[in-house]
Amino acid sequence: MIHDSILHCIGPTPLVRLARLFPCPDHPVIAKLELLNPGGSIKDRPARLIVERALRSGAVSAGSHLVESSSGNFGIALAVAARVHGLRFTCVVDPNLAPANHLILERLGAHVEMVCQRDERGGYLGTRIRRVQELLETVPDAVWINQYANPGNWRAHYYLTAREILAELDGPVDFLVLGISTSGTILGLARRLRTVFPRLRVIAVDAAGSVIFGGEPGPRRIPGIGASAVPELFSPEEIDDVVVVSDREAAGGCRALLAAEGIFAGGSSGAVVAAIGKLIPRLPRAGRILTLLPDRGERYLDLVYDDDWVASLPEATPAVEPTERPLILAGTAQ
Ligand code: PMP
Repeated sequence: MIHDSILHCIGPTPLVRLARLFPCPDHPVIAKLELLNPGGSIKDRPARLIVERALRSGAVSAGSHLVESSSGNFGIALAVAARVHGLRFTCVVDPNLAPANHLILERLGAHVEMVCQRDERGGYLGTRIRRVQELLETVPDAVWINQYANPGNWRAHYYLTAREILAELDGPVDFLVLGISTSGTILGLARRLRTVFPRLRVIAVDAAGSVIFGGEPGPRRIPGIGASAVPELFSPEEIDDVVVVSDREAAGGCRALLAAEGIFAGGSSGAVVAAIGKLIPRLPRAGRILTLLPDRGERYLDLVYDDDWVASLPEATPAVEPTERPLILAGTAQ
């Protein structure tokens, strides 16, 4: 089969058993390798779907200038889509951006705008969004993609990622454990997989210092996971539980995944690995765990795979489990 463009090479990505890392017969762990997407991450899917639907609806046309705030992966995915469709693109980023991602964005032809001021919550999201609004007022034909509010974000996973999972699985999934930032991935997959597996429990993995589940805002150094404002898309009643992981725990998870499985993955993959390690002894029943590994490790060589960087992290970032909805950890899940 010959594809029409690199965008047509997004998915299907394989499912892999993490049996060496989690040799637990009661809780087999399956990971979908989203890191194998051509742009390097899970965000290839919403970027393609959103841009192509906008081109079809007329919301974006040949003269449009795409604008987006991104911690890296979505920006890269949009930069690829912008190249393929001949669109201009400005990406607003913050200092958490992995240095390699900065270069990749520029090489892909994106105009990169770095904000350096933290917002009132201690993150950069507020500052990035303010910069986007300035650009919308000043750049001719600017169109804001807005991954935090765009329904195409969760729909990409509802229609594409979930369809692949359902086509390849050989039995039910009991626990879906996913990193969260915009909440597009977890909501899209939960909405589709729950229609097939009614007993499914959906567990978000959030970064310490993120405010998505009402935690105290604080500094976070791993891009891609957590947020410093609650995303407009987010719908907390669809999430059964949350596990909070510190940057240090996530770095440990990355290294454990690499050592046991030979999978070289990014920071949020390490976060889900660390979260699954914490969850397994506390799950109220046996069952299969499904997770995603969202991006590759190469872009994190200066972060989670750098010993000095890990040593620079605060010794004991408090990884407190929020008490809001501890359904599974309290053992009340059926
Ligand atoms: N992991 C990585 C590496 C990501 O880039 C993202 C997206 N920011 C996520 C996890 C979380 O996905 P979502 O935004 O769909 O919640």
